[in-house]
Amino acid sequence: MTTLSDYIDIGMSSPDITDAERAAVMSVLESRFLSLGPKVVAFEQALAHYVGAAHAIAVNSGTSGLHLAVIAAGIGEGDLVITTPFSFVASSNVVLYERGVPIFVDVDPVTGNIDVALVAEAAADLCRGGRAADRWLPPALRNGRTDLRRGQLKAVLPVHAFGQPADMDAIMATARAYGLTVIEDACESIGATYQGQETGVIGKAGVFAFYPNKQMTTGEGGIIVTNDDAWADLFRSLRNQGRDVFDSWLNHSRLGYNYRLDEMSAALGLVQVHRLDELLGKRAQVAAWYEERLADVEAIQTPTVAASTTRMSWFVYVVRVRPPADRNQVMTELEKVGIPSRPYFSPIHLQPFYRQRFGYEPGAFPITEELGQVSLALPFSGVMTEDEVDWVCGRLKKVVG
Ligand SMILES: *Cc1c(COP(=O)(O)O)cnc(C)c1O
Repeated sequence: MTTLSDYIDIGMSSPDITDAERAAVMSVLESRFLSLGPKVVAFEQALAHYVGAAHAIAVNSGTSGLHLAVIAAGIGEGDLVITTPFSFVASSNVVLYERGVPIFVDVDPVTGNIDVALVAEAAADLCRGGRAADRWLPPALRNGRTDLRRGQLKAVLPVHAFGQPADMDAIMATARAYGLTVIEDACESIGATYQGQETGVIGKAGVFAFYPNKQMTTGEGGIIVTNDDAWADLFRSLRNQGRDVFDSWLNHSRLGYNYRLDEMSAALGLVQVHRLDELLGKRAQVAAWYEERLADVEAIQTPTVAASTTRMSWFVYVVRVRPPADRNQVMTELEKVGIPSRPYFSPIHLQPFYRQRFGYEPGAFPITEELGQVSLALPFSGVMTEDEVDWVCGRLKKVVG
């Protein structure tokens, strides 16, 4: 008997590209401008308009955008940034780039987003200093150890994990109370809304990412959004080798980077922004197909959408495998029938270089670690068909049943 697997090759993710994107990229190649041209400007305007930001500054990756936001927030040697260990590693690496120290707090067990009660507690204790502050520091910095300089608590960096907004009201309240800058890692949440507000423009700056597995893509690419005029100017300078708008090509007002987005990528992104509602709608449909088929499967817990999430932007479809079923075994069994799946996320504090540098051991953040052990990302994209979802769910049910 032939099965669907004889015909389809299901990938983990897939971009959604049409003739409009292909034509847009070709038209750039036929022009004189492959960089620093009109497409980046048009892309920035379209994206800013979509999320309702005063400014959008395109960069060559989400990581680059987050790095520049960390610089703008004045994070320097030893400065502390409260963030989540249940994320993609880039969200805390950008703090390390400036020799700051990520202060991890555990996450909400339901959404997997940063636990806002812990954010408030950590901010209070870290601002008070002394022994109260100690328990929030990475083990290697506790008890007055002096080999790592201890700076100031400066920022909170929440991540809207899997396209679901973090509880921003509480985070903003804590930030106001202690004078902290809020940088939103919105790399997984373009188009998501929190109590009706677009993610990315709630804090002082937000960053979206456009790697090919994201909801919309530019190949590689990212964009910073902000309502702050001075920050926007700074981002434009920092991404362009530290040139100010009045600088000539070989004049550099500050230390900068080459984090520019090229014109081919921007042209692709411009079409994708215009299609964004369609792209998000297709992803929501695929998520609904999964939910229909998996909701009553005992061993599988489907994603929970919080009441404060007024629009989910489906980035990935991550289920939890309930014991006695074992996530790793489920992955292996799915692999055997050609269905890829991924453990998602692998906690940041247990990555080898975080353990080595900051002294983290398993047990430091129990909820994050638990989620890291049971979470399974299934194949997901806006171009997946209902038949493909059927096939994946059918095999998954067999494996856990
Ligand atoms: C994708 C992603 C990034 C980084 O994006 P790149 O464009 O790959 O650099 C940062 N944070 C999170 C949470 C992401 O998912």
